[in-house]
Amino acid sequence: MKKVRLGKTNLMVSRIGMGGIPLTRPSEKEVIKLIQRTIDLGVNLIDTAYSYGNGMSEERISKAIAGRREEVIIATKGGTLEHLETSLRRLNTDYIDLWQFHGVSTLEDLEEVLNHRMEFARKAIEDGKIRHIGFSSHSLKVALEAVASDQFEFVQFPLNFVSNEAADELVPLVKKHDVGFIAMKPFAGGRIRDANLAIKYLLQFDNVVPDPGIEKIEEIEEIVDIVNNKSWELSPQEQQEIKEIRSKVSSRFCRQCGYCMPCPQGVLIDGVIYLQILYELWPADWFFSWDYVNSSVESAKNCIKCGEGEKKCPYQLPIREMIDENIAFYERVAKEYKKQQIST
Ligand code: SF4
Repeated sequence: MKKVRLGKTNLMVSRIGMGGIPLTRPSEKEVIKLIQRTIDLGVNLIDTAYSYGNGMSEERISKAIAGRREEVIIATKGGTLEHLETSLRRLNTDYIDLWQFHGVSTLEDLEEVLNHRMEFARKAIEDGKIRHIGFSSHSLKVALEAVASDQFEFVQFPLNFVSNEAADELVPLVKKHDVGFIAMKPFAGGRIRDANLAIKYLLQFDNVVPDPGIEKIEEIEEIVDIVNNKSWELSPQEQQEIKEIRSKVSSRFCRQCGYCMPCPQGVLIDGVIYLQILYELWPADWFFSWDYVNSSVESAKNCIKCGEGEKKCPYQLPIREMIDENIAFYERVAKEYKKQQIST
């Protein structure tokens, strides 16, 4: 497996990493096997977060890498010293290689991180608990500002051929500032089904490390085969396919940037119109008991169809229609889930 330098962290990471969200879906036994196979294939970057599955993702990674800690570069995310300490405990390790401030969504969040929280993270570096500090975000405006501040060694930001807003400004900027770039959502939250196109598109960026969420051994084997054995160049036919998928998916794909917020009626727009994707990402038990999901669904009742969010969405998404679709979807799967609960 080829490796690439992750900006000023100077870490040599595999050309692709592994995203930790889906590690909560299959059984623990299957996940442990999956992670071990992934490491055997030469993938050395595993990304997770304090919040994924209430710690289940970190705990499972810990079990899978027991005795192999040095083979793996662990990236995790959180917001406080308490989160960091919990991650260390769950991962059963003395240090986190790549620690990220999770979901820095607004310029106010960034200010809070830079002016207050950075202090405990720097102290954690001195104490040997963290090796490198980065951040994750869905907001281009925030990510550009954060990278330009030169206070972070790496960033995690969505990049795929449907949602490729980072390609023009952020990717060149991180290069200029020698900041590492981990590309989250390489499959656009499951909206891109073709691994060959998704991975090859991202391999065009020589400083970007995609970390696809993997649920099955066949998936990681297919991706590693693309990286190791296929030409990375996109043929004219593949470029055409990308164009077609992009135009089909893009007009209904929420980038989670939050620019449509706040909604004057208190609707959690980005949560509501992401319900279907969240349902596909997380185990059903977790999804239906997740506060974020429940408050998003509840908030949708306040929607008066004023269209204010649509005016602010830079991607001209039909937010009102998407709210209705996602609520209808939620009601359907919630009904099925309840039925299942009763019968078991
Ligand atoms: S609806 Fe538009 S503005 Fe709101 S989070 Fe999604 S992409 Fe961003």
